[in-house]
Amino acid sequence: MKYLIVFIVVIGVLLLLKRGQQRDRHRRPPAGASHAGPEQMLPCRHCGVHLPASRCVWRDGEPYCCAEHADMGR
Ligand SMILES: [Zn+2]
Repeated sequence: MKYLIVFIVVIGVLLLLKRGQQRDRHRRPPAGASHAGPEQMLPCRHCGVHLPASRCVWRDGEPYCCAEHADMGR
């Protein structure tokens, strides 16, 4: 009888741990979306193509889509 109680307690703890892990997984944002909110899209100052701010090539405070356009300027 004593072992049955221990067994039930162990099962209960395992279920609680499992439920906690699943809750953590749901709370975490999916991989690749770790940024808070949508990323700002900026136009290239040379050709006007829009790209995420983190992928811009910056030259004199202006965003460009690639190093070539940054070299060419506006
Ligand atoms: Zn460009």
